[in-house]
Amino acid sequence: MPLADHAIDRAGHRRSDTVYLAQARRAPGTHVLLMSAGEPFATPSGEPARPGAMLPGAKASALTWLGAPAFSLPHTLALFLGLARDGEAVFALDLAPPDAQALTAPGGALHDLGTFLEFRSAVQGLSPFDAGVAATARGLFEWHRLHPFCARCGAPSAPSDAGWKRVCTGCSAEHFPRTDPVAIMRVTQGDTCLLGRQVRWPPGFWSCLAGFIEPGESIEQGAVRELHEEAGIRADPDAARIVFSQPWPFPASLMIGVALEATSTAITLDKAELDDARWFSRAEVSAMLEGTHPDAFCPPPSTIAHHLLRAWVEDKGPGT
Ligand SMILES: [Zn+2]
Repeated sequence: MPLADHAIDRAGHRRSDTVYLAQARRAPGTHVLLMSAGEPFATPSGEPARPGAMLPGAKASALTWLGAPAFSLPHTLALFLGLARDGEAVFALDLAPPDAQALTAPGGALHDLGTFLEFRSAVQGLSPFDAGVAATARGLFEWHRLHPFCARCGAPSAPSDAGWKRVCTGCSAEHFPRTDPVAIMRVTQGDTCLLGRQVRWPPGFWSCLAGFIEPGESIEQGAVRELHEEAGIRADPDAARIVFSQPWPFPASLMIGVALEATSTAITLDKAELDDARWFSRAEVSAMLEGTHPDAFCPPPSTIAHHLLRAWVEDKGPGT
């Protein structure tokens, strides 16, 4: 699952180990990723995007990894993300947009090394390791950006534990990065699958329905409730199956894939949520995944929706 690679050892016990962190920042083998406004520093390779890509013209890419000298670049926050397969530390630095712009301009220290790429198009071409690291860094940087104050007393809070915590400067309360669970539903009825589209999406783009889990709800209950609210379709929460999940740092979602077998077929749209929804045949969904459908397409391979649909089309057996 893209963005969910397990190749990094998060080494959580090192986050408060200031001696280790100071040494790791200077180590010759240290890996440093740059990010600015949630966009990773990467190298577009010029390869065309894979079939079914959401963003026409998106280019494949690779992160531009820098070494310890990158710490001399102006940055607003440094995260310790863990250890790579070679045992070396992995850091991410957040650069203010004006600094990022100046450094990548002709004559800047980063000129010709890469560019800050829009996250969604960049991850389509990244290796699983790079995509997982980029997703973690983006999720943490977004959390810091959106949570500058203490939720308990309102005083400013400050980053701690190599970016994995904030501590209030007023009342010392500790705050941890949040993750918001979202059910993303693959709703089938025999040999057909329900897909919807939002009014802001490109023409012809369809995807799985999705919605946030509410307090007091199970994932299965949330999925069934959202399906009924958005499309008027019924399903039995006791028959729901959790398939797989994917972190989605826009800004802090955890997408949980849920397979539902609909017990009704008549669609009643909530127009505030969906522009349209309809049932697609397995052959149509297959063509959409391959990019050969004449007038409909679906999310790219970097998304959980793509893999939920592909697993159904390919019918990989129990659990999928
Ligand atoms: Zn406080």
